[in-house]
Amino acid sequence: MDAKTNRFISLDERITAHNYSPLPIVISRAKGIFAYDVYGRRYFDMLSAYSALNQGHLHPKIVAAAKRQLGKVSLTSRAFHNEQMGPFLEKLCGLAGMEMALPMNSGAEGVETAIKAMRLWGYKAKGIPEDMAEIIVVADNFHGRTTTIVGFSSDPDSRIGFGPATPGFKTIPYDDASALERAVNKNTCGFLVEPIQGEAGVRIPSPIYLKEVRRICTEQNVLFCADEIQTGLGRTGAMFCVDNSGVRPDMFVLGKALSGGLYPISAVLAGREVLGLFTPGTHGSTFGGNPLASAIGSASLDVIVKEKLAKNALEMGTLFLERLSSLDHPLIREVRGRGLLIGLEFRKPIAKDFCRLLLKGGLLAKDTHQYTVRFAPPLIIKKAQIEAAFKIVYNAMNSIKERE
Ligand SMILES: *Cc1c(COP(=O)(O)O)cnc(C)c1O
Repeated sequence: MDAKTNRFISLDERITAHNYSPLPIVISRAKGIFAYDVYGRRYFDMLSAYSALNQGHLHPKIVAAAKRQLGKVSLTSRAFHNEQMGPFLEKLCGLAGMEMALPMNSGAEGVETAIKAMRLWGYKAKGIPEDMAEIIVVADNFHGRTTTIVGFSSDPDSRIGFGPATPGFKTIPYDDASALERAVNKNTCGFLVEPIQGEAGVRIPSPIYLKEVRRICTEQNVLFCADEIQTGLGRTGAMFCVDNSGVRPDMFVLGKALSGGLYPISAVLAGREVLGLFTPGTHGSTFGGNPLASAIGSASLDVIVKEKLAKNALEMGTLFLERLSSLDHPLIREVRGRGLLIGLEFRKPIAKDFCRLLLKGGLLAKDTHQYTVRFAPPLIIKKAQIEAAFKIVYNAMNSIKERE
């Protein structure tokens, strides 16, 4: 490895907790769909920070909005009003067809907020006896890393060693509507689900699943909460992934691309009958809804809408999926995706090694659970760039062939 790269990697390994195992590249700068290492070598960024960079690295309009706001005020706290938060959340609610929003920072905080909102609604609106509320979740979920959230993860690496788990969660299989029907009882306040499971390896449920979920939740008076932190904001070829199924959840949790990658911004969106139940002092966040975040969030949404990123994700995703599907290799089990959230699944646990090959070829991608490589480039990617990126994947695949 190059001396400079090595120096940063050894420092990280010495000084940082080893809760990640990064690929051996040190990124020094990035623009649009490309990242550059400390030697100035260029890489296609096909992870996009787990879909936080849908608008591309350092989108000029979002950077300009951030700079403008940095000349005015960055943080006020919610002890006072600021002129950025309301307009940002009004824009967001307009896009999502929701009445109210509660702004937070990280995705996990957004999910925690949604959990609190569902429970509060369960007690105050549904009449569930105190401390009896249940939330149904699915196997192989990924909703973040806080103690409550990892307590209902089915991934042993996420959960084991961090107990005791918070009570009040029931796990059912994913993509199984009748399991939901059976699991609901009079104390169920909500159902929390990812419309496509990203971290689990881009798992796409059957076309009727979310429709069935909607029906069951309505019939049983249970809140349907869609975690669209990864799938939302254009990623799957629609503004929200649930749009692909023609359903509306009762709640959205959004994060990641809500800031275009400049800043951690998350939000819970829901109707007044849910978020209207919070009263002063029942929830909060020092940085949530701050003017800098709101200015960035507002510009990030404008870019998604004005540049028609959902439409481009659909077109470029279809093209990339078509190219990947043409790969004829005995080690490939399946290629699947929606928009620009695409998984390439192998028959053997070689996904991380494959990502190392892609890195050498000039493309950044990440494996999920050893078997699947996720491709999720910024949604601003163009046709010729898809073809060039595919060429790198194609060559990497061929080099595996040669080694066997
Ligand atoms: C990334 C992610 C989260 C957690 O977001 P953080 O900002 O890392 O806390 C939650 N849910 C889904 C579906 C995610 O992809």
